[in-house]
Amino acid sequence: MNKLPYERPFIQKLNLGVMNKFGSKTELEPCTHIDGVPVKKLIEEYGSPCFVISEQKIRNNYKNAVRAFKTRYPKIQFAWSYKTNYLDAVCNIFHQEGSWAEVVSIFEYQKAIHNGVPGDKIIFNGPDKSKEDLAIAISNNSLIHIDHFDELYDLVELVQGRSLKVRVAIRVNMDTGVRPIWDRFGFNYENGQAWNAVTKIMSHPELDLVGLHAHIGTYMLVSSAYAVAANKLCDLMQQVQNRWNQDIQYLDFGGGFASTNTLKGAYLQASDVIPSIDEYAEAITATVLNFGFKQDKLPTIFLETGRALIDDAAYLLGTVVATKRLSDERRATVMDFGVNILFTSFWYDHQISPAQHFSRHSENMTLYGPLCMNIDVVRENVMLPLLNKGDQVVVHKVGAYNMTQWMQFIQMRPKVILIDMNGRHHVIREHESLETMLRYEHVPAHLKTISL
Ligand SMILES: *Cc1c(COP(=O)(O)O)cnc(C)c1O
Repeated sequence: MNKLPYERPFIQKLNLGVMNKFGSKTELEPCTHIDGVPVKKLIEEYGSPCFVISEQKIRNNYKNAVRAFKTRYPKIQFAWSYKTNYLDAVCNIFHQEGSWAEVVSIFEYQKAIHNGVPGDKIIFNGPDKSKEDLAIAISNNSLIHIDHFDELYDLVELVQGRSLKVRVAIRVNMDTGVRPIWDRFGFNYENGQAWNAVTKIMSHPELDLVGLHAHIGTYMLVSSAYAVAANKLCDLMQQVQNRWNQDIQYLDFGGGFASTNTLKGAYLQASDVIPSIDEYAEAITATVLNFGFKQDKLPTIFLETGRALIDDAAYLLGTVVATKRLSDERRATVMDFGVNILFTSFWYDHQISPAQHFSRHSENMTLYGPLCMNIDVVRENVMLPLLNKGDQVVVHKVGAYNMTQWMQFIQMRPKVILIDMNGRHHVIREHESLETMLRYEHVPAHLKTISL
């Protein structure tokens, strides 16, 4: 008989329904179904890992956001922030609901056109628009949100002397009381740069200043910051009216509303501390309504809400590859998905649920991804029941920025599935394969053969 290898003994506290730091019990529930579809079935059919998006949840989130603003203010227009998730199927859900497109590069711009968004319903933001890009936006009558003076001068060169009326806005940055101040995009309000940009635009009859834009930051934890921003944009709008008798048609408040994901290091769960969409809506609409514009001069309020509309509509399904003990006895679980496809694990403590029923014993553990890289940590420290090889898990609230910022590194990117309003599922993005990768590579003739 072979001698068994020696493993030094250790004592590990198992938590059996003990109280957490708030004196309440942490209830772990398995997540066995998404919109009525068994997780097991989805993994069987589409492989592990895979992303799953709920059409129902997206539509509900959107309708709720529109309700919050429309019940408070008469003129509202949302524009879907492409960079948050630009899968065509996802964009088209928002477009079907009435959302325009908000893009920050010519690639995103072309995607919006490809999706059938009319050119005049595309908002073109971002710091990098070439002259060629601007010319395309002009010919489509899109809304061009100017980011800096160099862009303004390019625009002037393109339009000068032509019988055009190009609709433009400026992006304004400002101190809203929140630190750090986002001042790398747009023109600063406090130091007069924004006013300077306005006067330059007004001196060119080919440019029609129709809007003012501010995207004050992302995952904003205080709704009052939007009230400060609204007040400053209203003030600028009023000054333009006073000086040139020019009516600004819209104020665009960008994105930045927090989603219910918990930031790393946060003491309280996000759902307990972040403002509701109604609080953000109240901060913005009350400020604009109370500013003193005549009723028929009220600007349309544009919103480019990204993460708050989609984060909780998507899940990442995955499988346990292995379990092990680290040298300090902590339990480690290796998953088949890592930071390469879950970029937001750098910011968030994503909630993770087992996808099957489990014993009540739970333990603090580290969740690693499958990459052969030390940075590949999905959760540093998470209380989960003991998972075994082959067990499946569901990562919650992964809809924003993962399916755009993911990278092909060591592993291929997986399939993305959409569950529609009737519980049917569709592949909306294929998984990558060796073939996908080889399609982009060229090997010079002298390197085509090797012999070892
Ligand atoms: C990223 C971005 C958004 C969306 O931001 P969220 O924080 O996801 O709501 C909106 N507008 C602009 C200009 C952006 O850059």
